[in-house]
Amino acid sequence: MSTRPTPQESLDRLLPEHNRQLLIGGSWVPAAGGGRIDVLDPADGEVLGTIADGTTDDAVRALDAAHAAQAEWAATAPRERGEILRRAFELVTERADDLALVMSLEMGKPVAEAKGEVTYGAEFLRWFSEEAVRVHGRWMHNPAGGSRLLTVRKPVGPCLFITPWNFPLAMGTRKIGPAIAAGCTMVIKPATQTPYTMLLLATILAEAGLPDGVLNIVTTHDAGALSSTLQADDRLRKVSFTGSTGVGKMLVKQSADQLQRMSMELGGNAPFLVFADADLGAAVDGAMVAKMRNMGEACTSANRFLVEESVAEEFGRRLAERMGALTVGRGQDDGVDVGPLIDEKAVSSVAAVVEDAVERGARVLTGGQAVEGPGFFYAPTVLVDVPAEADAVTTEIFGPVAPITTFATEDDAVRLANATEYGLAAYAYTRDLERTIRLAERLETGMLGINTGLVSNPAAPFGGVKQSGFGREGGFEGIEEYLDTTYVAIPMS
Ligand code: NAP
Repeated sequence: MSTRPTPQESLDRLLPEHNRQLLIGGSWVPAAGGGRIDVLDPADGEVLGTIADGTTDDAVRALDAAHAAQAEWAATAPRERGEILRRAFELVTERADDLALVMSLEMGKPVAEAKGEVTYGAEFLRWFSEEAVRVHGRWMHNPAGGSRLLTVRKPVGPCLFITPWNFPLAMGTRKIGPAIAAGCTMVIKPATQTPYTMLLLATILAEAGLPDGVLNIVTTHDAGALSSTLQADDRLRKVSFTGSTGVGKMLVKQSADQLQRMSMELGGNAPFLVFADADLGAAVDGAMVAKMRNMGEACTSANRFLVEESVAEEFGRRLAERMGALTVGRGQDDGVDVGPLIDEKAVSSVAAVVEDAVERGARVLTGGQAVEGPGFFYAPTVLVDVPAEADAVTTEIFGPVAPITTFATEDDAVRLANATEYGLAAYAYTRDLERTIRLAERLETGMLGINTGLVSNPAAPFGGVKQSGFGREGGFEGIEEYLDTTYVAIPMS
């Protein structure tokens, strides 16, 4: 009888201990102080493995390597950089099962969902392999005559990338793809809770031919010390961050001394609007995707359901039926729809949001409690009659909880949707074409899904407004974040 490998054995097979160190200048090395950090399996709370606890000296050594590689990398032919990305896309696709399993082990999401992230994450490598050869400046006549204007595009230089735990692969490739295409070198600090996917990706990028020193990785328990040290260094020219708004604001403040260029992909509080003229079945399907992708641990997750009064009861009933039928369990088990949340703190925070709503008069249609451990599970939950002041409406839930509130008119819906400091994603279900245009114009959001619960697409500009940050990842816009412009004035006699 064959026994299933333990999570630790599965990880050992896919990522040797050698690759659980720091990657500096093409070598895998231990942390300067020799420290190690435990990484937990969120499905049982046990130690999955360890990683190096990099120090600020390690961070500086990584920046030394990125800086040393920058000039030659910038001078490498765009086609060559594009070909490396293309090979990386192919290798990531070939190794989709391995990457998905590592991601599921460290982050908890079901393997099938992790495979979806591999496809999405790999597409950034393909998209930017195609964009690498399309960087160009412009040439024009001075409108007043007498001279010509030329612009030259150049890589901004060494970058620092800080990524979150919720999408361990895609949040990396969204930055790595355009940086490689533009000719930038980088230091990456992946989330401490999910470092293994990034370490495995680095081995794949090396196999694809990425030169030593272009991509360096430092894991550490002290992200604050790493970022403040590197941001004080004038060799670092750009920071791209995906994570919470609080940390993002601190990084922006830290950028002031050296005036680094910044890209900020921060938190969200996406409204999901359902109008009475919508196809209600499609709206429930879309709600399941927008809410339950990644167990609700997504910045684009539908956080608040705003439903027109006449269809609210029916929508709530159908959503609760679907949510209540989901299977919760370990992400590597067959038939599991919903994995664990990332840690104990996440479970307590989701539980507190639900308790607050109930205390303020909300009714629980399904779920409403944590699932007994081991592991960090919370039951898919639908709440109705949730007052506008409830935490479930005003804060980012980051869990499988769908609070439903109602609206009377389109103006009402827009006012409620915009009543948040965030502005990342919004969704609307309606069959009225003019209304979709009015919503696109009036909603304060970086992205709007019309009759769909999924907006992410590597060919589209992903990013937010207001306190969801600035800058765009993906699309034609994505590479702009990694390019400077030199304008040349050429007098003509
Ligand atoms: P987080 O606590 O801000 O952590 C994100 C990253 O920042 C991690 O690598 C973390 O390192 C690091 N970090 C923490 N403190 C830091 C500091 N003082 N200086 C430098 N780096 C620091 O966020 P999270 O809980 O991992 O992620 C969830 C948040 O990310 C949510 O708000 C979500 O909406 C947002 N998000 C946004 C997008 C988007 O594209 N807009 C996408 C995904 C997620 P450690 O792991 O070592 O703590």
